[in-house]
Amino acid sequence: MITHRASPYLFLLACFTVLLAACAPAAAAPLPDEIANRKINIVATTGMIADVVRNVGGERVQVTGLMGAGVDPHLYKASAGDVRFLSEADIVFYNGLHLEAGMAKVFERMNDAQKITVAVTERIPHDLLLSPPEFEGNYDPHVWFDVQLWMLAVEQVRDSLSALDPQHTEVYQRNTQAYLNQMAELDAYIREQVNRIPPEKRVLITAHDAFNYFSRAYGFEVRGLQGISTATEAGTADVVSLSRFIVERQIPAIFIETSVPLRNIEAVQAGVQAQGFSIRIGGELFSDAMGDAGTFEGTYLGMVRHNIDTIVNALSGE
Ligand SMILES: [Zn+2]
Repeated sequence: MITHRASPYLFLLACFTVLLAACAPAAAAPLPDEIANRKINIVATTGMIADVVRNVGGERVQVTGLMGAGVDPHLYKASAGDVRFLSEADIVFYNGLHLEAGMAKVFERMNDAQKITVAVTERIPHDLLLSPPEFEGNYDPHVWFDVQLWMLAVEQVRDSLSALDPQHTEVYQRNTQAYLNQMAELDAYIREQVNRIPPEKRVLITAHDAFNYFSRAYGFEVRGLQGISTATEAGTADVVSLSRFIVERQIPAIFIETSVPLRNIEAVQAGVQAQGFSIRIGGELFSDAMGDAGTFEGTYLGMVRHNIDTIVNALSGE
């Protein structure tokens, strides 16, 4: 669910605590012999994580992804249905690095109930994480747009599933290798496509700072209208300075994002027009959520591929 209100949330937390208490014996780690004979029941927060778990787990897993297409993970609060899924899961995978900021209390309670929860970003070395000033001392959580960094998340999922279900370790290793191969191809594809954009035009302007890792990995300069989280409103001064930058650099296109309101980008477009320059909307990028389930863009590989194709079409001038 995209919307939330404070009081039902508190109510849900109370329910969650009761549910976890009720399920406490079942919530403890299942025995390997027991779990080897059935599918592992898994909850993942974002679509990207659910997709990784499905690829690594294959036939062995039943995955519930909490956040569907167009959902903003920074603002997301668990619904009553989510609380039930979480309490029944054998293992819960989440991004971490404060991406799911609105679920912090729910995670605390899961830890208290000894539910197995795994942050898929856990094994990324800290010196590879970004902490831009606007993130106010926190790490930037949007690591999935550096395909090589996201490979570490895939390996994290493989090892967590192998620990839970050691009898199927080989299955997880095989699935992981196949998926990592596809990711390596995607990474190479992005690098090849970027070369079609003139170097001075490799500037990515979007509504919020989701593309810092992408930019570092693939050689873009990134400008976001909003800060770390979509929870803060972009100010007029930000719109003015960004508009100036666009005019100075003659940037041909600006991008909209599926999980961020269009009005922020439209404000910049108007600011640029006021200076006698025009900028077009280069298309829609996926940032914190994937496309609709059942479509190519509804997979991690498809979403990243869509983004790079959209960016190249808009900035290459071909
Ligand atoms: Zn974000």
